[in-house]
Amino acid sequence: MTDDGTSVEGTAATESDAAAESGNRESATAERTADRLDEPGDASLVVDDLSKSFGGIDAVDGVSFSVERGSLTGLIGPNGAGKSTTFNLITGVNEPDTGRVSFEGQDITGLRTSDIANEGLVRTFQIARELEEMTVLENLMLAPRGQSGEKLVNAVTPGLRGRVREEERALRERVWETLELFEIDHLAEEHAGNLSGGQRKLLELARALMLDPSMMLLDEPFAGVNPTLEEKLLDRVHELREEGLTFLLVEHDMDLIMEHCEHVIVMHQGQVLAEGEPADIRSNDRVIDAYLGEDI
Ligand code: ADP
Ligand code: MG
Repeated sequence: MTDDGTSVEGTAATESDAAAESGNRESATAERTADRLDEPGDASLVVDDLSKSFGGIDAVDGVSFSVERGSLTGLIGPNGAGKSTTFNLITGVNEPDTGRVSFEGQDITGLRTSDIANEGLVRTFQIARELEEMTVLENLMLAPRGQSGEKLVNAVTPGLRGRVREEERALRERVWETLELFEIDHLAEEHAGNLSGGQRKLLELARALMLDPSMMLLDEPFAGVNPTLEEKLLDRVHELREEGLTFLLVEHDMDLIMEHCEHVIVMHQGQVLAEGEPADIRSNDRVIDAYLGEDI
């Protein structure tokens, strides 16, 4: 991390033209961000000046960007750049010290993860310990919130029983569709704890999808996934995108990001270092310096 830091500071000091150009770009981005904050326009997600520090470490330091509706946008950056923390701030896992998050024109800053998910913005979570002891099928049945069937009182109230049964049937149908979509229907009765790393990733995605999102944040969804499965997952992502979902994807594999994303945001040391089309990002000197020693 120190190496990365030194190289970027060096770059900023010596290449003043590049720094000035990026400064202009940043202020233009800030203006656009302000415009978009309260009305959805073509951006699903608008992040404005988000910051979060942990015991003196500025994990996220004044981050602003927007994600176009229906896009597959990549969020990249060296280890420790603040990508996961940014996801945590967007999805209510952590509360930001400063800044705002707006989703489809609504201010969602500081809302609970479940309320944000109800608005249609969902991220994947690792399968929790309690869920490992349940089957894959049960994991998916439990994923959606706000089902009347969850409330026992409805289940025993005459007249509502039918509705509950109907919802249960519809839910089961969706669960099986989702299992088939991710090709894990043969694992329906398997305990989640017995799944391989890759299968677990599929289940995490399937669970998130059961929440019926309009936008998904994926944090390294392909880690530990074999190439065949990765290909399959990417196909699913593209299919879902054609159906109108928006994706923000954190991923290590630069080739994958360059091939699949139409817009890329680069973070470094808690800040947005660059933003643009994959080809421009790949040849951006500041990005290359930030990744010094890593292959991009
Ligand atoms: P990335 O996902 O880009 O690798 P992170 O967002 O996980 O980066 O981390 C950014 C920085 O914030 C790192 O220095 C990390 O150690 C620190 N950090 C993240 N979460 C916490 C936390 N809960 N407590 C303390 N430090 C944290
Ligand atoms: Mg991370």
